[in-house]
Amino acid sequence: MSLSLYRKYRPQKFKDVHSQDHIKKVLVSALESGRISHAYLFAGPKGTGKTTVARILAKAFNCQKGKAEPCNKCQSCVEIISGKSLDLIEIDAASNRGIDEVRELREKVKFAPSLGKYKVIIIDECHMLTREAFNALLKTLEEPPAHVIFILATTEAHKVPATILSRCQQFDFKRAKIKEIVQLLSKIAKEEDFKISSEGLNLIASLSDGAFRDAISILDQIKSLNLTQNKEISVKEIRAALGLGKWESVYQLIGYIFQSKQDKSFDLIEELFVQGIDFLNFNQMVVSALRRILLLKMGAQTNFEQEDENLTEIVKKAQAIAPDKILALANLFLESQSQIKTSFILQLPLELAIAKSQLLLGQDILKVTANKETSNISDAAADRKTPYQKATEQNINPVLWEKILNGIKPHNHSLFALLKDAKPVIIEENKLVLAAQFKFHKEKILQHQNRVIIEQTLSQVLGRDLLIDCILLDKEKIKQEEEDMLLSAKDLFGVEEQDE
Ligand SMILES: [Zn+2]
Repeated sequence: MSLSLYRKYRPQKFKDVHSQDHIKKVLVSALESGRISHAYLFAGPKGTGKTTVARILAKAFNCQKGKAEPCNKCQSCVEIISGKSLDLIEIDAASNRGIDEVRELREKVKFAPSLGKYKVIIIDECHMLTREAFNALLKTLEEPPAHVIFILATTEAHKVPATILSRCQQFDFKRAKIKEIVQLLSKIAKEEDFKISSEGLNLIASLSDGAFRDAISILDQIKSLNLTQNKEISVKEIRAALGLGKWESVYQLIGYIFQSKQDKSFDLIEELFVQGIDFLNFNQMVVSALRRILLLKMGAQTNFEQEDENLTEIVKKAQAIAPDKILALANLFLESQSQIKTSFILQLPLELAIAKSQLLLGQDILKVTANKETSNISDAAADRKTPYQKATEQNINPVLWEKILNGIKPHNHSLFALLKDAKPVIIEENKLVLAAQFKFHKEKILQHQNRVIIEQTLSQVLGRDLLIDCILLDKEKIKQEEEDMLLSAKDLFGVEEQDE
């Protein structure tokens, strides 16, 4: 089996580590002056080189040449590289998180190192250790044997107890910049003798989320397809290979939005869902397409992919739309980007963005009216009630509503977004009535699992059990109000259900 690119190009010396200059500098100068700490904490996102640097450090501590950079040739270095060293113990706390493992570790470190000067223990994902395991570890960290060095690595330093943190010298690993990743990828591609367009390299880098490891894995995937026969791999081929969305669908969707064809937009999203499209990536493409349209509309000199024949077409459709509206549209889809990561209904954030787009482009009037103070809405609806009804009802206070929303947010981000667009109208007996702007918003709010979350949060925040009901905002009445300023506020909202 051939070595993966990631393993093949994994740095073996500090000077070869990509990025993280601030960390390399401190470690090398400490090694040169013989200042060795007995516990290090490497914190930072995945794939940024924490365990790579930990292994180089372990080699440097024990290298028989005794320099800051490990020689990678002496017996100690060679044993560590081949994974046979008895002086390097690596533990993955994600699968060995209990007290027994730490006790076993404490037994092992009692023995002197076999070849080098130190026994180095790397504990990866150390935040996963149980409380008991941390306590056992703390005892060793408080009085470490002179020949023992701990290197703890974690993606979530905030979960590591303060008592442990205070015993460690902490280093924060940063995400790599796109430029740095592109540089590394093009270097590897060159050495591996295959060609990728610079736009292709940029695409891979942007998909890797700042992690060298992920970027190299994607490169490996592309390489294994053997697309290249002395020709450059195009961004289109990379997209196809990785199952990413197609620009055609992106422009199709934007076209529907520009033409207010909401039903067709939703159908398209459904179709993409069935195809198993990566919505995170698709949404990103929508944002980037809107940016292109905006730049072209404003007459900027651009250098986009040649293959976008649809772009000219869509720019024509965008002629009647003001640049600030397109900017606002891009913002809507930027918002949905973060929601997709936490949404349990994958397509919901995109659907919400589409619905809001229609508001933005066609029905500004509704938006303006719906943005009025929550308290006014409650009052307006309450005014239609008889005095008896009013006496048995309780209006919802905007501060409490905010509290309820914040209580829902951690459970379900997309439900939170949905409710932010809805308005609490009134509490009738044991029921809280919400008003939604769209029929499908209303349907989602009333879905069983969403009702449960809302009702549980209501009970926690208000200290009483309430059921949820949802009505539609009455758009006709809102319009009428805009036309006739004398119309009293009490007609602002109707309770009858209406179709879109
Ligand atoms: Zn060595």
